[in-house]
Amino acid sequence: MSKECEIIRDLLPLYAEGMTSEASNEFIEEHLKNCPECTELLKDMREVPQPEPLKEESELPLKMLSKTYRRKNRSLAVLIASIAASVLISLYAWLSAPRYLDYSSAVESTQEISDGLQITFRDGVHHIGTSSYTDPDGMSCTDIECWTSTLDQLWHAETAEDTIIRSERIWYRSNNNDMNGDVQLYGPDAGGSKTLRRLALNFYFAVSGGLTILLGGLGLLLRRGKAGLILQKAAWIPLSWCLASVIVERGIGAATWSLIRDVSLIVILWITLSIFFLCLDQRLREKKSTLSSLR
Ligand SMILES: [Zn+2]
Repeated sequence: MSKECEIIRDLLPLYAEGMTSEASNEFIEEHLKNCPECTELLKDMREVPQPEPLKEESELPLKMLSKTYRRKNRSLAVLIASIAASVLISLYAWLSAPRYLDYSSAVESTQEISDGLQITFRDGVHHIGTSSYTDPDGMSCTDIECWTSTLDQLWHAETAEDTIIRSERIWYRSNNNDMNGDVQLYGPDAGGSKTLRRLALNFYFAVSGGLTILLGGLGLLLRRGKAGLILQKAAWIPLSWCLASVIVERGIGAATWSLIRDVSLIVILWITLSIFFLCLDQRLREKKSTLSSLR
């Protein structure tokens, strides 16, 4: 190897990087024209593989990010759907809440038939409900109640048709808090009667309230641990029941004359409210942890 070749080979790495001066470049290029070995060496230098971008790894965070976004979008959709459903159910519960009518504003006339009564209703009676049972005297009894609702009035629902009831005793249940109580329409006199509101829902309201306080309190006490987090989240479920009960009954005292209707509505509202609160809880916690990780 000539002395010139040695000098050239010292310079080649710099030349390959384009870091040599004009003068050096001229000198190197002149040499390379006549020296295949050095030319070969330069070629090798230029072919050194560039570090490949790590495709998989660089795409991974992007994939995770888009996955997180999709998950967040989905949880936002659930959040919006559950609050929308809760509002609609509440609205329906309020508009369709039965307003019970007392005897004088519900019944136009009654006419005795062979073994019962034919009842004609006044305008504005949109629903009638009957229930039959045997009373303590061993007589077959039928209770009748009448109601309307804001929804029926908005829709101008039809007045209930004449109804024939065959029973040994027939009662009109007023389902209100005034002193007059129920009216016996038919059969041997059974003395006075007063239908009271069903209190069954109060029990569930009280239990849910207690559970909310218990779970929420324990969750706050143990908030440093994982158990605390689970308890805090679990507290939303009984709290949702309390809220659903308050919304459907329009108050804390969950006493009702329409138990089955109210229970159905409370259960549906309870589910949508639970989903809403659990989703909201999750999102707020994620936001909080994102904020604290940014600090
Ligand atoms: Zn050379």
